Amino acid sequence: MNLTLHLTDNCNMDCSYCIREKCPKDMSEDVLFKACDLAFSKGTRAGLCFFGGEPLLKKDLIYKALDYCEERSKTTGIPFDCKMTTNGTLLDEGFLERAKKADMGIGLSFDGKAQDVCRIFTGGKPTSSVVEEKAGLLLKVLPGSYALATIAPQAVPYYAESVKHLHDLGFKRVSFVIAYGKKVNWTDDDLEALREQLELTAKYLKELFIKKDMFFMSTIGSKISDCIRGKNPAERCHLGVRQMPVTPGGDLYPCTSFIGDERYLLGNVFDGINEAKVLELAKRSSVPMTCAGCDLVKRCTNSCGCANRMNTGNENQVSPLQCTYERMLIEISDRLGEELYQIDPELFARVFA
Ligand code: SF4
Ligand code: SF4
Repeated sequence: MNLTLHLTDNCNMDCSYCIREKCPKDMSEDVLFKACDLAFSKGTRAGLCFFGGEPLLKKDLIYKALDYCEERSKTTGIPFDCKMTTNGTLLDEGFLERAKKADMGIGLSFDGKAQDVCRIFTGGKPTSSVVEEKAGLLLKVLPGSYALATIAPQAVPYYAESVKHLHDLGFKRVSFVIAYGKKVNWTDDDLEALREQLELTAKYLKELFIKKDMFFMSTIGSKISDCIRGKNPAERCHLGVRQMPVTPGGDLYPCTSFIGDERYLLGNVFDGINEAKVLELAKRSSVPMTCAGCDLVKRCTNSCGCANRMNTGNENQVSPLQCTYERMLIEISDRLGEELYQIDPELFARVFA
């Protein structure tokens, strides 16, 4: 099974949209090894995602988990894979060489040209020059690494420029999401500006496609490919089924944004998973009432319990923000998809089908 290990609640950065409560709580080795055992106990493969706070504050735990899981994989024959989401500031060559040996997928949280708007060090210093240098190092050792940008309202004017910047730095895959949660306030003007930035981004992606540049921006690209493949993006979100977070203390929850809410506690690494509760939660999550009858219901991430909960406090209730954002994203992606198909149907099929 897949587990997301919150190795620490601590972080060396202080992003304006961060949803984590930072406190100096780290995972113990006891919890770590129990979590590794749990990952191998269910399903046909074991997957770990190293997460935080900032996971590289606990490099020692990552090394221990890799050694332990690689050994277990050898003795059990169960395949093991790993990934990590990091702010990148603590990356170094030694770590990256070990990550390469483990074939680790690394997602670098990096907002491109908007980095210093929201992502600052604790104490207030800007992070862009450090992260840009680390991005170069990361791509040198692990060129398949991807960038993950989170766009808050104040960073919207930098959106399209940031996509280009990350491409120019050498990323082949990027994902842009909008910031949610109590610290973020979207106005109608922000959403209008976001639409303009998405249009500019689509124009840029079209230019790259014409040059046969295989850059993939999943925010728009996945909407196109899901449509071609008839996939429902909402199915990626299965609370507590596909990727279960483990807190530093070893508790299990359905998704990161639910951590700390006892009503969603699904067990812990010592006593195991409360399967009845997982089932109950799966039954409870459904297409939101307000979405019934909408033509876009199969194209939209309306069932992302995490986003819904952050916006409305209810995992089954979509916010007007999410609905407006999804509508504009689908409209712009569909228009771009149509244009790219007309330009080169063969290349279009290779990239998106
Ligand atoms: S790097 Fe991540 S955990 Fe750290 S403050 Fe920023 S959003 Fe929060
Ligand atoms: S576009 Fe809005 S109403 Fe339609 S499925 Fe998505 S969230 Fe629901």
